[in-house]
Amino acid sequence: MVTGANTGIGQGIAVALARSGADVALVARRDPAETRALVEAEGVRAHVVMADLSSIEPCEGIVAETVGTLGRLDVLVNNAGIIRRDDALDFSEADWDAVMDVNLKVLFFLSQAAARHMTGWASQSGARGKIVNIASMLTFQGGIRVPSYTASKSGVGGLTKLMANEWAANGINVNAIAPGYIATNNTAALQADETRNRQILERIPEGRWGDPADIGGAAVFLASRAADYVQGHILAVDGGWLAR
Ligand code: NAP
Repeated sequence: MVTGANTGIGQGIAVALARSGADVALVARRDPAETRALVEAEGVRAHVVMADLSSIEPCEGIVAETVGTLGRLDVLVNNAGIIRRDDALDFSEADWDAVMDVNLKVLFFLSQAAARHMTGWASQSGARGKIVNIASMLTFQGGIRVPSYTASKSGVGGLTKLMANEWAANGINVNAIAPGYIATNNTAALQADETRNRQILERIPEGRWGDPADIGGAAVFLASRAADYVQGHILAVDGGWLAR
């Protein structure tokens, strides 16, 4: 299952998982027709779950619908996320709550619903469930003009470790990917700002924006049996940004 699968990094991850042979549940609030076609072109099943992830209300139903259709939920990728930009002096409560709800609160309660399901089959089968959270460079750094985003993504780092600690014994691995600067809707404003775009590119050792496909391989690894002994890790896929 990949949340926010209609575009950007979520689409890149869904396609990479499909290419590895996984049937994929695509959770989105808008019809993810393009992603569905790309997934099905890999010869696996795509199941679309329409849901608005700005509240926790749909979480249990999303898991139940997926299990009912595809048979089991092995891998949850918590990708859906939003960003709001304003000076910290002016930042509004509405922009705080909106970001924290999608990026942190729903990530936790959807993980909880998935983990309750995974705990059931993992304890019987010996295979392990996998939860992969999408973190950020702002899991490690402060950023500017994005206070709720930084708070939420720093929280994702902490929750990744907490969930790993609690659920490892239930047969579940919980890890995160911290993408660097990836060319998507989320970063359109930065790409369009000539000065910021130049500053960002100058700092990235690879000298380019990342592509959603750059994140897919890391997600496949963390979702696979190759990562059965990896827990609470935050894997940076950033063209070297953090190494500077
Ligand atoms: P994006 O293209 O804007 O994708 C965000 C996805 O989340 C979209 O599918 C969006 O759906 C979905 N979403 C947002 N709010 C939702 C809601 N209430 N209900 C259902 N779906 C919702 O941006 P992206 O860059 O691929 O972002 C994906 C993740 O990567 C996010 O968690 C982001 O914070 C993280 N990330 C991105 C970068 C980067 O450089 N791009 C770096 C680090 C981390 P709609 O299309 O309907 O809005």
